[in-house]
Amino acid sequence: MSDVTRCVLCGSARSKTLYSFDETDVVECVGCGLVYASRVPPPEELNVKYSKEYFEEFYGSGSETAAGAGAGVMKRLELRLPRKGKLLDVGCGAGDYLMAGLESGWAPVGVDVSRHAVEMARSRKLTVFEGTLESMRFDPDSFDAAISIHSIEHQTDPVAMLREIHRTLRPGGILFVSTPNIGGASAIREGKEWNGLRIGQHFFFFTRGTLQRAAEKAGFRILDIESQPSIVSGTTVDRALGKRLGAPLRRIARLLFGNLIDRARNAAAAHSEGDAIVLTAMKPL
Ligand SMILES: [Zn+2]
Repeated sequence: MSDVTRCVLCGSARSKTLYSFDETDVVECVGCGLVYASRVPPPEELNVKYSKEYFEEFYGSGSETAAGAGAGVMKRLELRLPRKGKLLDVGCGAGDYLMAGLESGWAPVGVDVSRHAVEMARSRKLTVFEGTLESMRFDPDSFDAAISIHSIEHQTDPVAMLREIHRTLRPGGILFVSTPNIGGASAIREGKEWNGLRIGQHFFFFTRGTLQRAAEKAGFRILDIESQPSIVSGTTVDRALGKRLGAPLRRIARLLFGNLIDRARNAAAAHSEGDAIVLTAMKPL
């Protein structure tokens, strides 16, 4: 483990501690507000970290949810780039988003530091390389689009990663990034217990502001940056009501209060930040 002495976003050496853990502190840069882990492991340890056990614990690869999310990302890309081409997935894991890309007509290529992830993706006949993006030395201007799905928070230098994506994208190429939102309602409510901190695996904790600044620093023009609200579903409401009232009364309660609940839910979604940030940006022409 080594100490991070300067903010990768603004260069400031001044930070304040938000949360202390055994292996690292989570600190906030006084200069720009970027939140990051004050100690990071050496790169060679990362392959070991993202083992078979890690993927079994954290990912439901190949699930319907993963396929649906992948299709959603492809739709977003296709809004910006109707003509599909070469797609790069940085931190591709077992290749769920590569599969979605393939099915949508892209020519996808994945990169991941985890040997296990690369093996899983290759078993699905996907084109995937093991290592960091920087170590690939892809040709400049060679991809039409790049995605990074909940991967930037695992990087030890996310600005360097974004710069390298920028180099490999053609002018006019589109970048899509998603990451947990430390400005989101769950992070604020749960504080040190927020599961987006995932100490030892996540090293950077972005808000919309700091993610936008990181992408701009790497040379991108922001097209769209939003947080995805965590919406209380009708089912959750029904379950809560049902627990208190029992089934027969639930329908009546829903008639009486349903509209109120919906309005409260919409107001909450409008006024608090969602738990994930999604960014779409372009390498300027
Ligand atoms: Zn800073």
